[in-house]
Amino acid sequence: MSDMTTRFADIVGAHNLLIGDAIPDDYSHDEELTHPPQKPAYLAKPSSAEEVARLLETAAANKVPVTARGSGTGLSGAAIPRADGLLISFERMNKVLEVDTVNQVAVVQPGVTLTELDAATADCGLRYMVHPGELSSSVGGNVGTNAGGMNAVKYGIARHNVVGLQAVLPTGEIIRTGGKIAKVSTGYDLTQLIVGSEGTLALATEVIVKLHPRLDHSATVLAPFADFDQVMAAVPIVVASGLGPYILEYIDNMTMAALVHTQNLELGIPDSVRDSCQAYLVVGLESRTADRLDEDVERAGELLAELGAADAYVLEGASARKLIEAREKAFWTAKAMGADDIIDTVVPRGAMPKFLAGARDLAGAAGGGAVGCGHAGDGNVHLAIFCKEPAARKKLMTDIFALAMELGGAISGEHGLGRAKTPYFLELEDPVNVDLMRRIKQSFDPAGILNPDVLFG
Ligand SMILES: Cc1cc2nc3c(=O)[nH]c(=O)nc-3n(C[C@H](O)[C@H](O)[C@H](O)COP(=O)(O)OP(=O)(O)OC[C@H]3O[C@@H](n4cnc5c(N)ncnc54)[C@H](O)[C@@H]3O)c2cc1C
Repeated sequence: MSDMTTRFADIVGAHNLLIGDAIPDDYSHDEELTHPPQKPAYLAKPSSAEEVARLLETAAANKVPVTARGSGTGLSGAAIPRADGLLISFERMNKVLEVDTVNQVAVVQPGVTLTELDAATADCGLRYMVHPGELSSSVGGNVGTNAGGMNAVKYGIARHNVVGLQAVLPTGEIIRTGGKIAKVSTGYDLTQLIVGSEGTLALATEVIVKLHPRLDHSATVLAPFADFDQVMAAVPIVVASGLGPYILEYIDNMTMAALVHTQNLELGIPDSVRDSCQAYLVVGLESRTADRLDEDVERAGELLAELGAADAYVLEGASARKLIEAREKAFWTAKAMGADDIIDTVVPRGAMPKFLAGARDLAGAAGGGAVGCGHAGDGNVHLAIFCKEPAARKKLMTDIFALAMELGGAISGEHGLGRAKTPYFLELEDPVNVDLMRRIKQSFDPAGILNPDVLFG
């Protein structure tokens, strides 16, 4: 047994420190499409913040790179460990410590999955509303990526829903930030600096998340449009309508056809409408009372018709759930269709038509394709990129990201940069911003051990 193995095993116990072939393959990757899996030298499963602190202190003293892992559902390669590194899996730190109904927060360990948190908050009528498509993802991973998802249009992203942390710095110091408080104006906001930092600044060992009331009544309105630009033009108008949708997604016709086929969806849309439709808008509405919901659904139908929809299909109960679940599985469908890469670029809502038309043109000129769906209410476009040749694909992706940035957008809206998008970030981002981020990284992590391949390459 090597010296490092003994040291890490002394901290977490021999049973919770795996090396070599004993490390299951699953720990060598997340769900990102392009990077080869990579097993770490050591896999540790700590059970407390103190153990995490000792692991980080030991790793820093010995210059061992460290990657944090929640559930490994990330889509940017940010949880892929280094071959010579330590992977810290939070799977044993999976307790919901408190559901505080007075302050409407839950205090959880980072390894708690969204499914587990949802079950723990169901009885009190509250819910954590950050909803990335993969509910096996962990709260710690949501902190790492600043996760978004379908409900962000109404409830915001992880950044709006994480109000406090206990976190371990790579120096081994344990800090607390924020709290069960609704606001704070006391120095720099360290909570929000750590949220979205992809495990490069500090590791969250406790997370305080906001909870929202569960509304009893919901319905989903599906509107096919013959013209793609009409869908995009409809989005800001639906947002401004006062209907307050908690889901506002677009799905292009190719993606919808693939979802219908792979997920056995029965939407009840006649062939004639389906064949002439370029894209769909999915509008999720919810309310405290059935009457109010009926009123909103009726108004949504009228509004969508005024905006050019061929029709508006109201889905409730199981059929609504099935459509939403199929949309959540769009990534697996794109993967099954042979997508070479995926992007989750964000642009100002009003710039979506220009961005999507530009991205399609760029893909066409490169001899490839770009199809998809997205969190339209947030201007967050998910495209599956089809372009086999690596150099042509790299140029295409660079051009698409550059276009998004020209339009006032950013490379990633919710998946993060990870190993996959870091090279584009370093090429396209303002060097002054990159340098400032580097100095922030240096002050948190002087030894440079936390996820060194992410953000700075
Ligand atoms: C089918 C599918 C659909 C998806 N849909 C969405 C979507 O709609 N919106 C969206 O935002 N994402 C989506 N995702 C991506 C993914 O689910 C989210 O990024 C999620 O937040 C990752 O959580 P995880 O626990 O799997 O994290 P991991 O993949 O394990 O890790 C993600 C990042 O967080 C870091 N990290 C993990 N734990 C900690 C910790 N305790 N402290 C600090 N950093 C930590 C890791 O180092 C890594 O950088 C989807 C993924 C799939 C497979």
